[in-house]
Amino acid sequence: MKECLWCKEEYEAKKDTSKFCSTSCRVMWNRKYGKKKGQVGVNELQELYDSILAAVNSINAQNGQPPALAAVIITETKKEAVLGFNELRALIESTTSEAQLQNAWEEVEKNKDLGGWQIKILKQLKEHQQTKLDF
Ligand SMILES: [Zn+2]
Repeated sequence: MKECLWCKEEYEAKKDTSKFCSTSCRVMWNRKYGKKKGQVGVNELQELYDSILAAVNSINAQNGQPPALAAVIITETKKEAVLGFNELRALIESTTSEAQLQNAWEEVEKNKDLGGWQIKILKQLKEHQQTKLDF
């Protein structure tokens, strides 16, 4: 005897792999839990999870050396991490030491998209900050 996955009634299974007492129970179960078009199923999620886990384990196993894919992701993320003009202004204004100001200026130099007038303003801000902090 097996228990039907949908109605939980016991039934005589003709096949070992059978999960439902009837076609209607199978249809009802699939309607609720089955994969709809374009949806990620439980099995795919499990595969995804396993591959992420494997990648994480591989990073740990290689003593901090990320696998090729992770390295690519990190590189791409760093590319995106260039600060914009307003963020750079805020960064410079928030500095409280020469080292911080130095780091902030390095961030300015990382951004290749800044216009001439933007760099001019940031440079003035930097000088103003240097005077203010007095070093
Ligand atoms: Zn049933």
